[in-house]
Amino acid sequence: PSLIVLSTITSLMSFIRKLIWSWTSSLPHELLSLDVADRLRLDSEAIESASRDFGKIFREKPSAVLHPSSVNDIVDLIKLSYNSASPFSIAARGRGHSARGQAMAQNGVVVEMTSLKNFGSIRVLKNPNGLGFCADVGGEQLWIDVLMGSLECGLAPVSWTDYLYLTVGGTLSNAGISGQSFLHGPQINNVFEMDVVTGKGDFVTCSKHLNSELFYAVLGGLGQFGVITRARIALDRAPNRVKWVRMLYHDFSVFTRDQEHLISITNGLDYVEGSLIMDQSSPPNNWRSSFFSPSDQLKINSLISKHGIIYCLEVVKYYDHITINTVNEELQPLIGGLSFLPDFIFEKDDSYVDFLNRVRSGELKLQAKGLWDVPHPWLNLFVPKSGIMDFNDGVFVNILHKQNNSTGPILVYPMNRDKWDDRMSAVIPDEETFYSVGLLLSCGENDWEALENQNKEILRFCDKAGIKAKQYLAHYETKEDWMDHFGSKWEIFQERKNLFDPKMILSPGQRIFNSLR
Ligand code: FAD
Repeated sequence: PSLIVLSTITSLMSFIRKLIWSWTSSLPHELLSLDVADRLRLDSEAIESASRDFGKIFREKPSAVLHPSSVNDIVDLIKLSYNSASPFSIAARGRGHSARGQAMAQNGVVVEMTSLKNFGSIRVLKNPNGLGFCADVGGEQLWIDVLMGSLECGLAPVSWTDYLYLTVGGTLSNAGISGQSFLHGPQINNVFEMDVVTGKGDFVTCSKHLNSELFYAVLGGLGQFGVITRARIALDRAPNRVKWVRMLYHDFSVFTRDQEHLISITNGLDYVEGSLIMDQSSPPNNWRSSFFSPSDQLKINSLISKHGIIYCLEVVKYYDHITINTVNEELQPLIGGLSFLPDFIFEKDDSYVDFLNRVRSGELKLQAKGLWDVPHPWLNLFVPKSGIMDFNDGVFVNILHKQNNSTGPILVYPMNRDKWDDRMSAVIPDEETFYSVGLLLSCGENDWEALENQNKEILRFCDKAGIKAKQYLAHYETKEDWMDHFGSKWEIFQERKNLFDPKMILSPGQRIFNSLR
C-alpha cells in the first residue's frame, strides 16, 4: 500500500508541476490534455540536454522536451501546434551532433527522436518492386545500429558518414557524405522511400513516384519540411574485410590529381578520402584512428619538418572470402600508378566493421581525456575543383598553417556532381567535380571565438578569390545569406516550406525562416 501511496503522490506532483508550467509557459494549455503529456519532460535535466549540441557554442532552451513512444505522438504534437492560434516551434533532435544549434527550439518543443528507438527495428527487404536489397529503418536509428542489423543478413548500406553514432533522420536532413560518396553518391542518394510527418501534422509516405515533391524536399532539407520517421535505404552484400592504404604527398597538385584520377575509375576503389597532416606528433584531439606505428610517425615527422603540410591520400578496397586471393592483384594497378612519395605508403588489413566504425575508438579515447565534450567550431565547405588550388594556397598554407591554432582533423576529398540529384534540397557547387573540405577543429571552453574568426577569414578569402564554395552543414544568421546559399534553389525551397510547413513550425534552429523565434 505504501508503494501505491508513493506512486499517487508522484503522479499528483507531476500533474501539479505541469499545471503550473501550462500557466507560465508560452505553449498552449491543450498540450497537457493530449496523450503525449505523459511523455513531455519539463525537468531541468531534459531541458538542459536539449539546449546543447556537439558544437558547444549555441545554447537555446526549449519549453519542453517530448520523448515520443510512437510516431503518433509526433503527429499529435505537430497537429496541436499547427492548429493552435499561436503555433509553437518544434525541432526533431537526433543525437544533437550538429555544431550550431540546428536541432534546438528556443521556447518550443524538442522531440528526442532516439526515444522511439525501441519501437523501430530494421526490416531487411529483398528486391521489393525491383529495388534490389533494401531496409526500412527508423529516422531515429543510429547508423551503427543500421549496420549491425543489416549485417545479420549479410548486407550493409552502401553510403556512409565517417562517424556512425548519428541518426538516419539527422544525416538525411543534410546529405551524409564520406569516402564512398564518389561512388554511390551521398546517403540522400540512396533512399527509396520515407515516412514523414509534415509541418501540418500529416503522416505521408513519399518516394520518387509518390508525393515526390515532399520526398525531394526532405532529402537535404535541414528538417524544414517534416520529421522523417522511416527511410527505405539501399543495401548491398557486405564484405568482411578491407585493405586500407594511406599514401603521403607534399605537393597538393599531385595529391589532388591522384584523387581525381581515382574517383574517375569504374570498378576501382570503394572509398577515397584525404586529409592534411600538420602536427609533428599525432595530435591529441584528432579523432582519426591511429594508423601509423611509432616508427612511421618519426619518418612522417621529418617530412612535416621539411614541408610544413603533408597531404594524406586514404583509400580502401573491400574484400570477402571469395575475393581474398585476388584483392591485392586488384589493388596494385589502382595505386601502382600514383605519384605519392616513395616509402610513404602504409597499409592495414582490417575488418569491415572496424573500418566503418573507425572514429568510435578515437572518440572513446578523447572522452577519457575530457577532450570530446569541448567546443567544435567546425567549418565544412564544398569547394569547386576550379578553386581548390587557390584554396590550398589561401587557406591551408596561408591561414591554417601560418596561424597554427588548428587542432582536429582537416579533411579534403573530391566527389562528382552526377552522383547528386539536383531535385533534392541539398546544395552543392555548380561544377562537375568538387571537394568536401572539413575543418573539424576543437578547442578549449573559451577559445572558440578565435576559431570562429578564423572561419570568417576563410569565408572572406573565398569570396575575395572568387571561389564559389558552398557551406555543408551550413550556418547563417540572416535570411539573405540563406538565399545566397540556395541560389537558384531558394524559390523552390520557399515554395516547399509554404506547402509542407506553412506556419514555420519545424527546425527553427537552422535560422532560415525565423518568424517563430
Ligand atoms: P541533429 O544534430 O540532432 O539534427 C540535425 C538537423 O536535422 C536538425 O535541424 C534537426 O532538427 C534535423 N533532424 C534530426 N532528426 C530528424 C528527423 N528524423 N527528421 C527530420 N529532421 C531531423 N556528416 C557527414 O555528412 N559526414 C561525416 O562523415 C560526418 N561526420 C561527423 C562526425 C562527427 C564526430 C560529428 C559530430 C558529426 C559528423 N557529421 C558528418 C555531421 C552530421 O551528419 C550532422 O551533424 C548531423 O546532423 C548529425 O546527426 P544527428 O542525428 O545528431 O542530427
